[in-house]
Amino acid sequence: MAIAKGYAATDASQPLTPFTFERREPNDDDVVIAVQYCGVCHSDIHQARNEWGNSRYPMVPGHEVAGVVSAVGSKVTRFKVGDRVGVGCFVNSCVGCATRDLDLEQYMPGIVQTYNDVEADGTTPTYGGYSDSIVVKEGYVLSFPDNIPLDAGAPLLCAGITLYSPLRHWNAGPGKKVAILGMGGLGHMGVKLGHAMGAEITVLSQSLSKKEDGLKLGADHYYATSDADTFKKLAGSFDLIICTVGTVIDWNAYLGLLKIDGAMVVVGAPEHPVPVHAFSLIGGRKTLAGSGIGSIKETQEMLDFCGEHNIVSEIETIDIQNINAAYERVIKSDVRYRFVIDIASLAA
Ligand code: NAP
Ligand code: ZN
Repeated sequence: MAIAKGYAATDASQPLTPFTFERREPNDDDVVIAVQYCGVCHSDIHQARNEWGNSRYPMVPGHEVAGVVSAVGSKVTRFKVGDRVGVGCFVNSCVGCATRDLDLEQYMPGIVQTYNDVEADGTTPTYGGYSDSIVVKEGYVLSFPDNIPLDAGAPLLCAGITLYSPLRHWNAGPGKKVAILGMGGLGHMGVKLGHAMGAEITVLSQSLSKKEDGLKLGADHYYATSDADTFKKLAGSFDLIICTVGTVIDWNAYLGLLKIDGAMVVVGAPEHPVPVHAFSLIGGRKTLAGSGIGSIKETQEMLDFCGEHNIVSEIETIDIQNINAAYERVIKSDVRYRFVIDIASLAA
């Protein structure tokens, strides 16, 4: 078995530290990837700190994994050594299940997460992209378009698809007013993707400190949610609101910003439940929904869309030795707009 180097959380209260481990032996249908970059998602922090109550340690986080193929099994047909590839939030799912055929495998119970999970054998832990290599079944490996760099492309594999999927499902496009709540890693991708789809995009952020960036990235309007007037001015305005905020906020206030038949789609995943009044939904026949990442097919479609529209993430590259400080900055909303680990720093 190959030895991999990485960084791991060893329990909920400790910083991430260097960790050496064995990657599983590649099978005929596996692709071995030399990881070059890995995005830092807020979900990595939730899980490293056991905020969702399901953490397994040691945990090597990272599900925005970008690298180059270093070996392929004998049955692999779609990839060859040297290809620029990515791995997102899952590395396996129930085979033959009808949901897979519908390209909704992200919602299947048999999904195997890229980290904080076990492989289909039920025992081998999965370890994510804060490491120098990963072994993944061919069917769960994505291809980067030639014009998408691996560093700024890595965050597309979670932040990108998590916004692309609901924007498509709820028909964001010309004539649709879409609000993106939270201008962080997910939110800034929502601005770029929604704009490229032709929707009218409004950012709802805690302050106006990132307004100039938001407008540059494609937003048509930008409002501060700390200003009570925002809720008066924008009442009944939106066809769709995508909430990327990962802490408890008053969803009722945001439901009030929807038009009749509008939908608020939750992608941010707070640690605690969020209370919702029935009348926030009844008045205006509104929908409150959730959305999780996207299927492999849709993730590839998103990457190709980003290739066509020259869309990448706005990133700040860090050495892995700075990961714990980066986590603190993400929590303070002090990142513009996604940290990406340069995995070459592991060798330092
Ligand atoms: P992030 O970079 O930290 O962005 C979250 C944004 O929310 C912040 O930039 C901030 O935007 C806003 N925010 C933070 N605290 C707030 C507060 N107290 N009140 C109001 N707004 C606040 O995180 P991310 O990586 O984008 O992830 C966001 C959430 O989505 C996390 O919970 C993550 O676990 C979840 N997630 C879900 C999926 C899925 O499939 N559903 C996939 C990936 C991640 P402003 O500064 O503009 O206010
Ligand atoms: Zn993520």
